[in-house]
Amino acid sequence: MTSPPEPPARTTQPYLGTSRATIDLAAIRDNVAELDRRAGDAGVIAVVKADAYGHGLVPSARAALSGGARYLAVAQLAEALTLRAAGVTAPLLTWLFAPGDDLTEAARAEITLSAGAPWAIEAIGAAARETGTTVRTHIKVDTGLGRGGSWGDDLDAVLRRAGELEAEGAVEVEGIWSHFAWADAPDHPTVRQQQETFMEVCSRAERMGLRIPLRHLANSAATLTNPSAALDLVRPGLAIYGLSPVPDLGRPEDFGLREAMRLTARLVNVKDAPAGQGVSYGHAYTTSEPTRLGLVPLGYSDGIPRHAGNAGPMRVGSSTLHVAGRVCMDQLTLDLGPASDAVAGDEVVILGRGVDGDPTAQDWAEAAGTINYEIVTRLGARVPRVYVGPDDGVSA
Ligand SMILES: *Cc1c(COP(=O)(O)O)cnc(C)c1O
Repeated sequence: MTSPPEPPARTTQPYLGTSRATIDLAAIRDNVAELDRRAGDAGVIAVVKADAYGHGLVPSARAALSGGARYLAVAQLAEALTLRAAGVTAPLLTWLFAPGDDLTEAARAEITLSAGAPWAIEAIGAAARETGTTVRTHIKVDTGLGRGGSWGDDLDAVLRRAGELEAEGAVEVEGIWSHFAWADAPDHPTVRQQQETFMEVCSRAERMGLRIPLRHLANSAATLTNPSAALDLVRPGLAIYGLSPVPDLGRPEDFGLREAMRLTARLVNVKDAPAGQGVSYGHAYTTSEPTRLGLVPLGYSDGIPRHAGNAGPMRVGSSTLHVAGRVCMDQLTLDLGPASDAVAGDEVVILGRGVDGDPTAQDWAEAAGTINYEIVTRLGARVPRVYVGPDDGVSA
């Protein structure tokens, strides 16, 4: 299904600084609605960890809820507490905490805690007792990723203990979940193996007397390529921001998604340079003719990958250019070309929706030898986020 890409959302606000990321909340809302549609009877857990993949935690979470997300998920307790402090009351799952961490605040804030190890289910039970609450938990199963969650005897111990704590009223075993190793290669044999292992574990839990209503397994790639993994909830992150988790299989618009982030900056200096001029640290670029150089006030501290020296694409006016020489901490240089009429103050598009010659996060990933996930997630705190699109004030 290919629809023509929609033009990028613009803002009429003046720049607050020299750069900004314009975040289209309507795109996030619509992407969640599209993923919800693709997931059939399953609902959507919108993954808003890592500051919503660089898009801004609270506004992105609200936009996802307005698109129909039933649940939110973040990696860390602090992120979950930030959402609660902002007044977001939707169901909210988190999974990274360590032995000794204080879980009582999470228990009082009705945050769903993942039990990924025997110590974790004990800690969850202890927090429930201490606060006199019933803590919702999702049991994390390692079906073969080799990362979080339990397998083998540890998993049996977690299931048994969860059953005991549920009988006691300390926990509610609401969910069971796992994560794929190769979801971005849908035909990889591990995909089917992990899915089968997961279904076996769900049956085992049932035989142990646990009635677990929410089974979830599918990240963005699985949600888009493997409908059989949808189960009760899908758990996409990247796709809700309109990026393709499987760039070899399809662009965002091929999946009915659109990029939510547009990163722009203003040229802060434009000057003539002679032929043979070395540019930026180490002179890794040399002008080949008399030309004009433009200075972009973004660097690796803002998340522009240093690996993208002499490679990262940018658009100035109708020209697609590439970083000239090294990316510095706060700035980088463009060779605007001898005929450029660009002046200081003109806008540079670093990444956007791929229309009108705007580069995409995927273009940057290829230029820097990484994945689009990293390009948006690493965007620095120093770059102001500006929100456009209907924030219809859903107070979740
Ligand atoms: C980050 C993450 C997701 C979301 O993955 P995407 O590929 O961004 O959709 C889902 N589940 C877990 C456990 C994760 O860590």
